Amino acid sequence: MVKICCIGAGYVGGPTMAVIALKCPDIEVAVVDISVSRINAWNSDTLPIYEPGLDDVVKQRREKNLFFSTDVEKHVMEADIVFVSVNTPTKTQGLGAGKAADLTYWESAARMIADVSKSDKIVVEKSTVPVKTAEAIEKILTHNSKGINFQILSNPEFLAEGTAIEDLFKPDRVLIGGRETPAGQKAIQALKSVYAHWVPEERIICSNLWSAELSKLAANAFLAQRISSVNAISALCEATGANVQEVAHAVGKDTRIGPKFLNASVGFGGSCFQKDILNLVYICECNGLPEVANYWKQVIKINDYQKSRFVNRVVSSMFNTVSGKKIAILGFAFKKDTGDTRETPAIDVCKGLLGDKARLSIYDPQVSEDQIQRDLSMKKFDWDHPIHLQPQSPPAVKQVGVAWDAYAATKDAHGICILTEWDEFKSLDYQQIYDQMQKPAFVFDGRNVVDAEKLRQIGFIVYSIGKPLDE
Ligand code: NAD
Repeated sequence: MVKICCIGAGYVGGPTMAVIALKCPDIEVAVVDISVSRINAWNSDTLPIYEPGLDDVVKQRREKNLFFSTDVEKHVMEADIVFVSVNTPTKTQGLGAGKAADLTYWESAARMIADVSKSDKIVVEKSTVPVKTAEAIEKILTHNSKGINFQILSNPEFLAEGTAIEDLFKPDRVLIGGRETPAGQKAIQALKSVYAHWVPEERIICSNLWSAELSKLAANAFLAQRISSVNAISALCEATGANVQEVAHAVGKDTRIGPKFLNASVGFGGSCFQKDILNLVYICECNGLPEVANYWKQVIKINDYQKSRFVNRVVSSMFNTVSGKKIAILGFAFKKDTGDTRETPAIDVCKGLLGDKARLSIYDPQVSEDQIQRDLSMKKFDWDHPIHLQPQSPPAVKQVGVAWDAYAATKDAHGICILTEWDEFKSLDYQQIYDQMQKPAFVFDGRNVVDAEKLRQIGFIVYSIGKPLDE
């Protein structure tokens, strides 16, 4: 029986390995992590991450051919294929701080693999890493290998949180990069035969290592750029009376452009887009390409601008101050169908409003009070681009309450900010909400989820991103 081990039981390692175990009953899959609490959660009824469909997949295969363990070394030693799906955050200090990827976790995983291995292995980069990382990993492994042969493959993950299981069941493509040597090609075939259990052959793309590594950074940069492009247009829409949804519809009808990923919003978030673009910027700078670096940096600057523009709109609409006013925040996760708050725009928006001394009542169906309080008390790292939103001192967390539903959050509120596109926000009883709010009652829709006209008929003053403003 082929044995797979995945180092890192996070948002990527957990779901990808659960799906491999489901689709490949002839393969034994172990997901290992140094975090005891995470592994305990994977082995319990309450999984450590919320992802539609994930519970079902895990329950079907756990303890059959899917195992979660903290015994990292044992499972690595026994595996034929070792995926490494550890976190690769942005470096916060030293050379490249604020841009370069921090490969500390990767390096320590590679050293451990070299240390414990007693048989040849395929080592798969599942984490998003800078182009040329495989070269560094090869050095670490071969210099410590004790005669063992390691083949490094790049197999970046393209799943999106919130639709991870769907994306893994039916991926647009699976990308496998490897060395062009016979051993490299043999390793590619071995990994290909895993995915071939359920992914059609034409969707499995093989390339050289550097193309695969760079493709992941490029794909995330393109996606984020699309959001910043439509958000930049949304600002112009508000200034001119155009409607960004009409513009996006017209633009997206062009088959060269396509309709997806053209929703204007309060900004993108998540652990990947900003981190991967910063990483791309750093790689460009290191390769003597400052103009290309500046081009990609602009995608992040527009994203920051969009968040600060939103905060400014809220404050200016509410008679230039939100001091002492209660603002209901509906949605804190960076997108719907996830509880993940990493780099969520809600953090910057909330901090901006707290900076103007608002009182916040926050509701998100999947984010805990602890998580919200933790996120809001963290000081934002000072990237090398301007921060518009950071209050001078850390926010007074006492100004923040967490509500159990949208009705509790909006009671006696002066305004509502919708920051995540949860479906339930579309079908709230807005008449009931209006009746219990201070007047005039404002709605600032950062995701264009509500029917603004209906809300106006109730009596709300509505601001929707990229749409004509109320007089
Ligand atoms: P995560 O933080 O949720 O999970 C990483 C896990 O690795 C953690 O549980 C951590 O404890 C564990 N870990 C770190 N060092 C370890 C070690 N030496 N041994 C064992 N375990 C160790 O991160 P994630 O969101 O799953 O992302 C992982 C990688 O995948 C990142 O490079 C990310 O950029 C990339 N990625 C993420 C997504 C996403 O949507 N989250 C999508 C595609 C790619």
